[in-house]
Amino acid sequence: MKKEKLLMTPGPTMVPPAVLMAGGEPMIHHRTPEYSQLFRELNKNLKTIFQTQNPVLTFPAAGTGGLEAAVVNFFSPGDRVLCTSIGVFGDRVATIAKAFGLNVEKLTVPLGEAVDPRIIEEKLKEQNYKGVFVTHNETSTGAYNDIEAIGKITKNKDILLIVDAVSSLGGLDLKTDEWGVDVVITASQKALMAPPGLTFLSVSNKGWEAAQNSTSPKFYWDVIKARKAMEKPSPQNPYTPAVSLLRSVNKALELIIEEGLQEVFHRHSQLAKATRAAVEALGLKLFAAPQARSNVITSIKMPEGIDGEKVKKQMAEKYGVITAGGQEDLKGKILRIGHMGYVHEGDIIQTIAALEKALIDVGYPIEKAVGIKAALEVFN
Ligand code: PLP
Repeated sequence: MKKEKLLMTPGPTMVPPAVLMAGGEPMIHHRTPEYSQLFRELNKNLKTIFQTQNPVLTFPAAGTGGLEAAVVNFFSPGDRVLCTSIGVFGDRVATIAKAFGLNVEKLTVPLGEAVDPRIIEEKLKEQNYKGVFVTHNETSTGAYNDIEAIGKITKNKDILLIVDAVSSLGGLDLKTDEWGVDVVITASQKALMAPPGLTFLSVSNKGWEAAQNSTSPKFYWDVIKARKAMEKPSPQNPYTPAVSLLRSVNKALELIIEEGLQEVFHRHSQLAKATRAAVEALGLKLFAAPQARSNVITSIKMPEGIDGEKVKKQMAEKYGVITAGGQEDLKGKILRIGHMGYVHEGDIIQTIAALEKALIDVGYPIEKAVGIKAALEVFN
């Protein structure tokens, strides 16, 4: 009999049954009081999760759509921006910004490390930038950036801090208003534990001023138009919204709020600690630098002669646990375990067991169950 596999990738992630069921409710029309009520609730819940008093916009798209929306709404061709990159997703933002004619300076950090906020501070002294783009959690490496420290540098300056929180929001703490983040972008399919298909952007007052001045071409992504529709007495969207996905996300946000944001962050921290302890107990090395290790994903360096792709395949096909491999230059060299969203202790134990067995299968000698024991000790 076929059994469902355990989805331990860094997105899409596992979705709670109640969230799937909410998406399966009968369709409603989007210009009705019923829809407005749903959208009103979603907007309120999004503000709680984003830790902001500012409006949070919803667009039907993948996270990359949200990143493009940030580029075209808050900047104009020729604007100088600093794009920090600690991996694939930092690179992607820089590519989008270049595609829309922004004057991009890239600040690239070795893979596995976080950006040193002091370097950003120095860069801002050298040049006038209109914006700084930073990835919160770099999903391709398992490292995360210190947004609070970067916010302190940009907060009282005439510059926008734009944070890609696609794989972190709802898993890592991100105090949007308190830390002075102008635009936060996320998506439905990661720590928000809903199906893929929606992207969300919070926008500060500074961000709204910038949006008024932006001359970049845009139509579908226009945040001013989206805000006007959202702030009608009966909240709406300019175009047909993804009603079922909105229902799913709203249910997922309710579950997060019910558990409590701090509790959710604590759960992620425990999952990460247990995973890291298991990996190290098995004699493997963690890929991310010690001070940059994220609580939503663990990336593991593959030992000399061991192909991460083979380990991943074995874990999925033989032991029913789906993880992710390395991307681009890291292909085969690392294995990434996502532990964001709807993940609990038992999922980590099952994943470590699959990892141990797969390592033995590919010819890497380990002492059986030492990883599991280390993980259990964290949970106890
Ligand atoms: N940014 C980060 C940090 C991500 O992890 C991802 C996806 O993994 C993206 C952006 C792109 O999101 P999407 O695949 O939804 O376009």
